[in-house]
Amino acid sequence: MGRYFGTSGIREVVNEKLTPELALNVGKALGTFLGGGKVVVGMDTRTSGEMLKSALISGLLSTGIDVIDIGLSPTPLTGFAIKLYGADAGVTITASHNPPQYNGIKVWQPDGMAYTSEMENRLERIFEEGRFKRASWNEIGKLTHADPKGEYIKRALDAINLDESYKVVIDSGNGAGSIVSPYLQRELGNKVISLNSHPSGYFVRELEPNAKSLEGLAKTVRVMGANVGIAHDGDADRIGVVDDRGKFVEYEVMLSLISGYMLRKFGRGKIITTVDAGFALDDYVKPLGGEVIRARVGDVAVAEKIKEENAVFGGEPSGTWIMPQWNLTPDGIFAGALVLEMIDKLGPISELAKEVPRYVTLRAKLPCPNEKKARAMEIIAKEALQSFDYDRLIDIDGIRIENGDWWILFRPSGTEPIMRITLEAHTKEKAEELMKKARRVVESAIRNA
Ligand code: MG
Repeated sequence: MGRYFGTSGIREVVNEKLTPELALNVGKALGTFLGGGKVVVGMDTRTSGEMLKSALISGLLSTGIDVIDIGLSPTPLTGFAIKLYGADAGVTITASHNPPQYNGIKVWQPDGMAYTSEMENRLERIFEEGRFKRASWNEIGKLTHADPKGEYIKRALDAINLDESYKVVIDSGNGAGSIVSPYLQRELGNKVISLNSHPSGYFVRELEPNAKSLEGLAKTVRVMGANVGIAHDGDADRIGVVDDRGKFVEYEVMLSLISGYMLRKFGRGKIITTVDAGFALDDYVKPLGGEVIRARVGDVAVAEKIKEENAVFGGEPSGTWIMPQWNLTPDGIFAGALVLEMIDKLGPISELAKEVPRYVTLRAKLPCPNEKKARAMEIIAKEALQSFDYDRLIDIDGIRIENGDWWILFRPSGTEPIMRITLEAHTKEKAEELMKKARRVVESAIRNA
């Protein structure tokens, strides 16, 4: 991880660390890195969006890059526009689910996949060394404006087909999804009720879609007798779902259901998920001809693995889904349309969810100073290997040990001074026993690090 780029691009408090000067330098660095061509730039609904976007565009133009400004745009629409306009990169000005005082910058590749950390490191090196390309007066980039929404909706309608019409509540959380998701659902033939869909930059609910933040959505689904509720985070690369009974559907359950549906739609194949996802997915997709492969946490790692394995689908237990037949950018809006198609073909989610196996998952966070993390992980690796009777170890991101009916993941947080333990077992007793032991291992590792 570099000085500016974290696990999901740059994400900081506006006008403290994330200033127009920084945005300008990212623009200049990206332009220098690309050396020419054109870049699509979009932003979410935050009040600082225009300020940062203008600075970033200025930087790009100064290096001779042409810019297509698509204005207010959910992340998946920006990813779509990169391919639509044949751009050499894309940039979203977004802080995803962070509070309104934050903003961020995330860069995307021509195929819609996010920049890898190696690519971000190269950008950082350029702006730390100040090696910026400067175009002469007659080679300054050109700025144009475009609106890819219509084409996005048109192509999504070609890809998704509903036989019936449904009552759908869409909660965009006052984020960028507001300008596309309800419209796509209506074009699909559904009756749409919009919640929190004024894209103001002032957020009514917490932006992370979870059981608590979606209480309003759940209630609306019940009161309106809707078939489903769909929610997004601030840039709509994620999806949260409320079922026909008005209950929030656990992320892991939804991940299993949609993976199963993708296998039915596109045929048997590989499903990519991350090391923090449970066994339910493996067990649910196996009879449908699915093989689960785990990648590091984060949408870049999932997208890379999808390409490598030629997978049917990739999703994280956070509601970040990538449908490679559509794009390599995580897309909560297209995901919403896909959920409706699943309901149309297979039935209501409350019924489908009964088929997904449930195990017991426990999570713990232990305080751990950032500078101790690496050493603590080394100690954990050694101790965990001795104290647990496991038969498989995955160390691509943290350490995951597995044994037929349980698994434990030890992983330092990429954004906070904490160490995380996630584990799963078939019974509560087993899960608690494992957690006790895992905590002891981690506490002593942090002490001795
Ligand atoms: Mg997001």
